[in-house]
Amino acid sequence: MSTPARPANRHHKRPRGEGQWALGYREPLNKNEENKKADDGLNVRQRIIDIYSKGGFDSIDPADLRGRFRWFGLYTQRKPGIDGGKTAILEPEELDDRYFMLRVRIDGGQLSLEQLRVIADISNEYARGTADITDRQNIQLHWIDIESVPDIWRRLEAVGLSTTEACGDTPRVILGCPLAGIDAGEVIDGTPQIRDIYDRYIGDKAFSNLPRKFKTAISGCTAHCTVHEINDVAFVGVVNEQGEHGFDVWVGGGLSTNPMFAKRLGAFVRPEQVHEVWAGVAGIFRDYGYRRLRHRARIKFLVNDWGAEKFRQVLETEYLKYALPDGPAPEAPRGGRRDHVGVHPQRDGGFYVGFAPRVGRVDGDTLHRIADIAERHGSTRVRTTVEQKMVILDVAPDKVESIVAELEAADLQVNPSTFRRQTMACTGIEFCKLAIVETKATASALIDELERRLPDFAEPLTINVNGCPNSCARIQTADIGLKGQLVVNDRGEQVEGFQVHLGGSVGLNPSFGRKVRGLKATAEELPDYVERVVRNFQKQKNEGETFAE
Ligand code: SF4
Repeated sequence: MSTPARPANRHHKRPRGEGQWALGYREPLNKNEENKKADDGLNVRQRIIDIYSKGGFDSIDPADLRGRFRWFGLYTQRKPGIDGGKTAILEPEELDDRYFMLRVRIDGGQLSLEQLRVIADISNEYARGTADITDRQNIQLHWIDIESVPDIWRRLEAVGLSTTEACGDTPRVILGCPLAGIDAGEVIDGTPQIRDIYDRYIGDKAFSNLPRKFKTAISGCTAHCTVHEINDVAFVGVVNEQGEHGFDVWVGGGLSTNPMFAKRLGAFVRPEQVHEVWAGVAGIFRDYGYRRLRHRARIKFLVNDWGAEKFRQVLETEYLKYALPDGPAPEAPRGGRRDHVGVHPQRDGGFYVGFAPRVGRVDGDTLHRIADIAERHGSTRVRTTVEQKMVILDVAPDKVESIVAELEAADLQVNPSTFRRQTMACTGIEFCKLAIVETKATASALIDELERRLPDFAEPLTINVNGCPNSCARIQTADIGLKGQLVVNDRGEQVEGFQVHLGGSVGLNPSFGRKVRGLKATAEELPDYVERVVRNFQKQKNEGETFAE
């Protein structure tokens, strides 16, 4: 008797491999994977020093220029004058300027005055004075030419800074609380763990070919200021039932076009285990991460498919080779804003002073001025925050008044309006090749206008301005998230504008902002629009209700 033919069933297709190395898919499935396999991104450093910095821009191999340069924080910046309508149409080489953005990684946001002054000097000498504090605690410089890169590295590395793996499919800068080690209420100081991971694994070829970028946050801050909910891996300070201080692990958070909040693994990690748990999570990402499609390659897609339980089991059995004990969830974040702006006491009797430049934009002279002000007031340490702000540590009580006055005189506001304090903007069309609209100047003008129209508004309200859907400035977790796109104005012209998302938040009840159907504002209308939203909120809110609620 012959075997009956299996009925055709279109629902039983063999699942297509996603390019996971651990399942045997070692052949590259796209151009990026081919380039990474052909030569490790870290190898480009020597070529920059030996060949490209001597031969100039035209000597650069395109595969290095648009690929491996990122492993050292270098992106070609957008050629000036190309409007946002052409972003998706032009070939990459048509958008490339001959200058670079250079991202200096500042792990934990921790800088000495010497380091700050070196960045300030580099900004003035090589970057036309540019310097932007990013929402991942880095400082980005622009207008860098390839000839100056070896000298810039020499100067950064002489003071313990680097650009290694600041971009690319690598472990990016590690976020940390700017107040680590000084905050009276912190659960644990994550600084030793940040340093440990940096020293052991950054620049290590075991982790230099990941499926996509890999973002880490480590903090014991009770304000949860490093936004662990939207990092690829995060360690959050907790105290277990035995009274031990350690960390709760979260994996798989990320925004961009498919936003997902991170999941808790429910495991307690002792401080000395953090580096190996980090290496285990990064190892799972490297080996099991999806490499077929770039837009599905972040670890959040793997975590979403596996779930936290399976992820933890693979971590323990295949990578750590030991089981982690269960542990508690972090305490709810303390109320109010998550930033560290203003004057606040440290646990040692000193004060820290957080201040707000405009949407993270400073310059070389301002960085020098900050270093000078800090030094005159007896401080040797500054910090960058994940809100594009800065903090000066260790100010003696009798120096507080004077430092506040000097910072404010430099337009570095210690007591800013809500709008100055809580508006962030990504790089946008000025330098970013993916941008559709301008962001920094638009956001800065919006702040001025809202301060003028709503001088008494003092409640928390985050406004995040993004130049495209990529969400570098966190569209979906802002009270008012603005996603840059071209819109049609009432004269029928296509102009720069924004799709509005409302009501996003992180914290106790995290939620992604809702896209307001049909609601798009032109850049010109933005102040009117935000003013309307704020006034409606003030009219309709119940006692104690925040915007996100
Ligand atoms: Fe560039 Fe878009 Fe990121 Fe803004 S959100 S920096 S425009 S990629």
